[in-house]
Parts: sequence; C-alpha cells; structure tokens
Amino acid sequence: DAHVVILGAGHAGGTAAALLRQYGHTGLITMVGEEPIPPYQRPPLSKAWLKGEADADSLALKPLEFYGEQNIDFRPNLKAVKLARSDKTVTLSDGSIVSYDVLIIATGMRPIRLPIEGADLEGVLTLRSAADAEVIKAALGPGKRLAIIGGGYIGLEVAASARALGAEAVIIEREPRILARSACEALSNFFHGYHLSRGVEFVLGAGVEAFVGEGGKVTGVRLADGRVIECDVVLLGVGAVPNDEIAREAGLECARGIVVDLEARTADPSVFAIGDVTHRPLPHYGRMFGPESVPSALEQAKQAASAITGRAAPTPEVPWNWSDQYDLKLQIAGLPFDADKILLRGDPASGKFAVFHLKGDQVQSVEAINSPPEFMMGKQLIANRKSVDPAKLADPSVSMKEVAV
Ligand code: FAD
Repeated sequence: DAHVVILGAGHAGGTAAALLRQYGHTGLITMVGEEPIPPYQRPPLSKAWLKGEADADSLALKPLEFYGEQNIDFRPNLKAVKLARSDKTVTLSDGSIVSYDVLIIATGMRPIRLPIEGADLEGVLTLRSAADAEVIKAALGPGKRLAIIGGGYIGLEVAASARALGAEAVIIEREPRILARSACEALSNFFHGYHLSRGVEFVLGAGVEAFVGEGGKVTGVRLADGRVIECDVVLLGVGAVPNDEIAREAGLECARGIVVDLEARTADPSVFAIGDVTHRPLPHYGRMFGPESVPSALEQAKQAASAITGRAAPTPEVPWNWSDQYDLKLQIAGLPFDADKILLRGDPASGKFAVFHLKGDQVQSVEAINSPPEFMMGKQLIANRKSVDPAKLADPSVSMKEVAV
C-alpha cells in the first residue's frame, strides 16, 4: 500500500489518519505536526475550555497511544518547509526529507497579526492553538481588562468567557456593527444586546491605529480618532489566513487556500488538501469557498481517505457551524449566497429564534439560536432543495415539518 504523508496534525489531519486505518489502508502513514501535542479540538479553546469547564485531555481527538497502536507515525514539533512534487518529497524543519506516495496537506490557518505600531508588545495575543489559549487564560481573571479587536465569532466567544472569568471585556470593531461580514443585522443586534446585558463594552466603527504600552507591555489601544482604550491584554480577532505557502511554492493552484475538488484532490493526483487550508467546492451552491469549520474539515478528511482507499466519494454535506456564548447556542446551516429575503421565526427577546435567508422560496441558510429543530430541518431543506411556504416558516406555531410545500 502507498505511504501516505499528512502535513499538519490538526482536526483534519488527525481525522484523515484515523479514517485511513478505519477504511483498511495498510501502508505507512506519517503525520507531521508543528505543535507538540497530538490532534485536538480547537472550538472549546474560546468556549468551555477557556472558562475552565473542560480539561486539556478532553480536547484531544484521540489519546496519544492511539497513533502507536494504529501504526501511525506521529511526528510532533516539526514543520514542513518545502514540497518537491517532481521527486515526491517534503523537507522538514529539522532538515530531514520524507518521501511520499500520497500527500495530504492539512496545515490549517493562522491568525492575522495587524502590522501596526505596538503589535509586538507583550500582551497582544492571538488565539489558534492550545498554547495560545493557555496564555490568554493566564492573562485573564477578576480585575483584568481585555480589549478584543474584531467583533467576529471568536472575539464574541472570548468576551463571554472573559466575563465568566470575572474579567472586563471591550470589543473594538471597525464596522458599524459586530458580525458585519457573517451575519444579518437582526443577529448582530441580538448578540450586541446580549453581550451588553452581560457587561461587555463596545466601541464600534473604530479603526485601531496602534497599541500603546509601558515597559514593553501593552496598556491600551489607540484609535484613529485619538482615543485610547485602556486594557491589560489585547486579543486580535481579525481573521485568519491559510497556511498554504508550501503548496504555492510547489506550483499548486491556490486562491484563498489550496484549490481542491470534491475528492479533496489538487490538480496533482498524488496531492490532497483538507480542512481550513483549502479553497473547496460547495456543490449545493455551485461555488468555491474557504470553509473554516470543523464539519468541513471532517467531511474533507472523509473525501480524501475515501479516494485514497478506493471508496466511493461521500455524499456532499450542507456546510454548518456553531458558536456558544453564555447560555446561547447558535447553529448555522448553509450560506446566504444570493439570498433575496430574510425571514425571522420566533422572537429574539425570548432568546430562542431563527433567521432564514431565502432565495425565492428556497432556504439558502439558517442561523438558529437555541432552536435545534429550525437548524436541523433548515439543513435538510437546503440539502433537498425543497421549496417552503414563507408564511408558514415565519410562524413558530407551525411545526418545521410542515413548512415545505
Ligand atoms: P487546524 O486544526 O488548525 O490544524 C492545522 C495544524 O497544522 C496545526 O496544528 C498547525 O500547527 C499545523 N501546521 C501548520 N503549518 C504546518 C507545517 N508547515 N508543517 C506542519 N504542521 C503545520 N469551527 C467550528 O466549526 N465551530 C466552532 O465553534 C469553532 N470555534 C473555533 C474557535 C477557535 C478559538 C478556533 C481557533 C477555531 C474554531 N473553529 C471552529 C475552527 C476549527 O477549529 C477549524 O475549522 C479546524 O480546526 C480546522 O482543522 P484543520 O485541521 O484544517 O486546521
């Protein structure tokens, strides 16, 4: 059997390794990871884990022994630095060279660091890894003041966790509303109000000009209008970029991430790419996109492992995602591409409602707050391309099972 080399021991890479064995791959599997620990879940890093509600062991996808038992050569603390496709080798950060028959690139993303004055002060932090989360947790606690740059989901989750730890949190957002890129106004307003009621402060429509500090440590954020927002620690939550450099340098097609097909294969038949590092097709929408979610990482791990072991490609899934803040569980299915109507089901004031994005009479996406049936049925409606009766959909007294026409 082929020697499969996996670059990146994260959610996608770890899942692909386990699936290859589950699907009967008997050849060598080498999994190279930059981090010191085996693959783990990142979502809890801003949520339960940060609040102290989950221990480190519970983050691991599999215990360390699993990799030995499954004959998966897990090589931590090593970075892949160069890919030579013509001789099918990868050079690692210790200078060693690994040959592959099949390569899976699963290197994920890294947070954007703002290239502004003071960005290298101590206490200006980002969150991607378990090690990052340890640093953030240690910096928070009663009396501490956290400034979060960027009102996206990770920023909001960390704000909620910071409040649970007794810290103050202020969110500084360039746009006039939080979640401006990803959510409709109703949802932005709802989260804004909920966080305000939990004591989070907001500075909206504000450009960050610099971080100011004393003795090398951050003490505040200077805005374009000259105001300085005081703080003890800063979290940059302004987005992430794919770790696709080795693929680019090896001549593989990249957009925002490595371009792959529905088997997670690049244009080079020996090279697959999975997870956040990819730019992947979305068959339900006839588009490509950068996934940035665990369900997509799992789906693509399945696609690659199936193709490598000669199985039929799995049925494409509707993209989905979630966010936990306080006692709110947001579940999102689909993407609001080309939507021409927004429909609210339920009352936001009740803390239980859903926002549907429709194109004609078809659901393109749903954002469901504490509303699992709306999420699950919404996802099915997207998958099956069913038409709905908008009047029924907007009426919470009509069951979700009866909204399709
Ligand atoms: P990763 O899990 O990031 O793994 C990539 C690995 O590759 C990393 O360990 C990295 O160090 C390593 N690596 C990078 N470059 C190299 C190299 N050259 N050589 C070797 N190793 C390398 N998704 C959701 O669906 N729901 C959520 O609620 C959610 N919450 C999140 C909260 C936080 C704080 C974060 C950071 C992410 C969250 N996500 C969430 C996103 C989710 O974690 C990612 O979509 C998922 O981890 C993607 O898996 P991946 O394997 O592609 O990338």
